[in-house]
Amino acid sequence: LRQKVMQARDLPAETTDGVRVQLNLNVGLNTERDWLNDLNVHGVGLYRTEIPFMMRERLPTEDEQEELYSQVLEQFRGAPVVMRTLDVGGDKPLPYLPMDEENPFLGWRGIRMTLDHPEIFLMQIRAMLRASVGRNNLRILLPMITSAEEVDESVRMIHQAYHEVAEELACSVDEQLFEPQIGVMIEVPAMIYQLHCVADKIDFFSVGTNDLTQYMLAVDRNNSRVASLYDAFHPAVLHALKQIIDRCDALNKPVSVCGELAGEPGGALLLLAMGYRNLSMNSYNIDRIRWIIRHIAADDLTEVLQRSLAARSPYEVKQQVIMALENAG
Ligand code: PEP
Ligand code: MG
Repeated sequence: LRQKVMQARDLPAETTDGVRVQLNLNVGLNTERDWLNDLNVHGVGLYRTEIPFMMRERLPTEDEQEELYSQVLEQFRGAPVVMRTLDVGGDKPLPYLPMDEENPFLGWRGIRMTLDHPEIFLMQIRAMLRASVGRNNLRILLPMITSAEEVDESVRMIHQAYHEVAEELACSVDEQLFEPQIGVMIEVPAMIYQLHCVADKIDFFSVGTNDLTQYMLAVDRNNSRVASLYDAFHPAVLHALKQIIDRCDALNKPVSVCGELAGEPGGALLLLAMGYRNLSMNSYNIDRIRWIIRHIAADDLTEVLQRSLAARSPYEVKQQVIMALENAG
């Protein structure tokens, strides 16, 4: 089977009834591998910039960041790369920026921290923009957004950084600086009801099912004592995901999924059934998710989805999904 899965690598991620799915990569650290060709993916759906920040003893300078982002954008030249702005706090503290909080997951996380430190935010955006010169494949994604004001403020600063960098470049290089597309993560439940307030300010949405699950179920994603309660297959989470795709479709805004659920066979199947057509996942999940997509008919998934949405527990959902996967072979 493994061999068959690998052989499908060069083929499109398309269901037996012709529904195409765009597969993207989640990456955290730069690697030498030629991912685009090796795995036949569209691009990078999530580059987690905090990882290089966490490995240092001090904040990387703008030049250091530019160098790092250049490598990533160069490695994926010709393909879109979604770079998420610094998403520290919660389970990801920085050694040089102490955050002593009783509830870090409900605290100073992601965009909340960087909007309080505009110098850190601007430096990062400037470094990304400078790195994108001549490549034009940068997209910027904002983590932990909870309100429309946070989007307004972030977009304002991105424009500011853009004008600064464009002006500096005008004197030195011929290359044009392109305005990057801007996206917002849907990972705080409040955002589900605010999509219409931010849609016209941005270009795309990306659903973070890891945090969305944590915040919807009020379960710390890293606390082993409640680990059994943390389950993205909870019917309530599925209802939220269905609502998100329906609302994004109505607003005519592209939406992708970059949480772990997209890389799980049953998760990908349900997301496909809901109408998601853009999934981003870790490299080791790409082959098997493509294989599954190529062995199911999107039309046949309606019933699985209806039953999963009507289920009483994650267990019931998984039973439905396992049956559907078995039917697909
Ligand atoms: C998520 O929350 O689903 C996500 C993709 O981001 P992270 O896991 O980095 O918080
Ligand atoms: Mg998250």
